[in-house]
Amino acid sequence: MIKKNIVFLFIISCWCFNLFAQGPVQNMQYPLNFFRYPLDLPPSTAGSFGELRGAHFHSGLDFKTNQRIGYPVHAAYDGYVSRLRVQFGGFGHAIYITHPNGYTTVYGHVKSFTPAMEKLIRDEQYRQQSYEVDFKLDPLQLMVCQGEVIAMSGNEGASAGPHLHFEIRDTQTEETINPQLFGLTIPDKVPPSITAIGIYHLDGNPFSENTKRQFFAVRGSNGNYHLTNPQVINLNGQIGFGISTTDMTSASANHNGIYSCELKLDGVTVYTFAVERFAFDQTHAINAYIDYPELMKTHRWMQKCFILPGSKISLYPQSINRGIVNFNDGAIHDVEYVVKDAAGNTSTLTLKVKSGHTESSLSTIKAAGNLFHYDQKNEFANDKVKVVIMPGNLYDDVNFTYKMLPKRPGAFSATHSIHNRFTPIHDNYELWIKPDSNIGKYADKAVIVSTDGAMAGGTYQDGYIKGQPHAFGDFFIKLDTIPPVVVPINIKPNADLSAAKRIFFRMSDNLSGIKSYAGKIDGEWVLMEWDYKTKILSYCFNTDIAAGKHIFELTVTDSKNNSKYFTAAFNR
Ligand SMILES: [Zn+2]
Repeated sequence: MIKKNIVFLFIISCWCFNLFAQGPVQNMQYPLNFFRYPLDLPPSTAGSFGELRGAHFHSGLDFKTNQRIGYPVHAAYDGYVSRLRVQFGGFGHAIYITHPNGYTTVYGHVKSFTPAMEKLIRDEQYRQQSYEVDFKLDPLQLMVCQGEVIAMSGNEGASAGPHLHFEIRDTQTEETINPQLFGLTIPDKVPPSITAIGIYHLDGNPFSENTKRQFFAVRGSNGNYHLTNPQVINLNGQIGFGISTTDMTSASANHNGIYSCELKLDGVTVYTFAVERFAFDQTHAINAYIDYPELMKTHRWMQKCFILPGSKISLYPQSINRGIVNFNDGAIHDVEYVVKDAAGNTSTLTLKVKSGHTESSLSTIKAAGNLFHYDQKNEFANDKVKVVIMPGNLYDDVNFTYKMLPKRPGAFSATHSIHNRFTPIHDNYELWIKPDSNIGKYADKAVIVSTDGAMAGGTYQDGYIKGQPHAFGDFFIKLDTIPPVVVPINIKPNADLSAAKRIFFRMSDNLSGIKSYAGKIDGEWVLMEWDYKTKILSYCFNTDIAAGKHIFELTVTDSKNNSKYFTAAFNR
């Protein structure tokens, strides 16, 4: 019965999918040995492509740089600099090079650029009067040859230690592609390790925190894994599987991600996950790939081997019935996991399961609240609150629940419990909360915050405060009337800064966050850099400021338009 279903579904599934005897699972072929490594160091990675990160799949390779900054970064192939970006977080400083073969390479967290790029960036920063810039270049503006030094490696932006983040993207679609499929291999003889498996009793219901789960510890080495307590597992009805697995290379002790995981039932593949390529607007679907409720509750990273119907990410080259298996024939079956890294090292785990006899009853869901459908627009409203979820933001149907909780001290509304934090949201949703009538003239200072401190923004509209939370949880209205805090470190009225290299401030905001800042010397806008890791805002003196007396001014504004102004005369 099961086998017949599988064969039938296999025929109707229309994946253009190649399983190469030795090579990795991939839909497309990429030019090999075309791009060079971007560093001269022996290739070693602190992070792999597709590795599991908080709220995203890692979009490139993180090349290690001996825990130091300042290694020359080389253009991976001939091309032109097509985009330069400076930002506080993210890649910090990034270079994009577009190549004639349809691919674009990206180099992130670099310390410094070439003088030609530095000048273009500085001109753009003064033109836009903004430290953060992101701009495109013309094909003939800044051409580079393969191997040319384009930057020095660094630790800028959201980087936890010195390294080079390197990507290869499809120039047309901007999908990011696993660089290891282009022959940029990392020495690796170590197969992936498997630490546990999960079994999910779905029984026709959407996946949620209420899905019955069983976890089994796994032991093994050198690619051969087995249950720590060998046993035949009894399964009945619709079952999803899961796995906890990571990978290491021969070149470093870092725990990286796997390349692919294939699930077989009696020798037939029912599900494959492979980190070949994906689009950035789908990367949050990592929360549909992992057992998100389990991560929220216990910090366990369990990777599901079945696909939620609302997940659109292109990391599932093959599946039958979304990887969900129906056990109802009373027979013994073999379940096999085949896990590979990008070098092709393979680990397997096999187990025996005994199927029950019960026909699975479909759609047994009992809606305790409102049943929301993942593929539709969903709305909930009462006289105090409105929730609007656009299609594409839920990964599965949701039994939506709502509760009103008591008002918190200082709040301008009751606390509204909007479903629960165990259900992920792909992007965001609209949350409208009616403020207390005494909010009056402060309505434009109102923001929606969650009880765990997350900001959901807020604008006054039609008698409501409207926010856009990225998660479900408990929300209420608060006012932000307090301007940012700006503490001068080395400047005071008539300070002697003739030997100083920089002017420093410490800058922070209590609630809505800093929206903008502007520094001026003698009335002219000057470039100031904000290091969000240290919360230090600084101006670096250059030759434009002559010896003598000058006036420095700084205005910092938060998202609710509360401003702080500082000024002082200084001598240079
Ligand atoms: Zn990275």
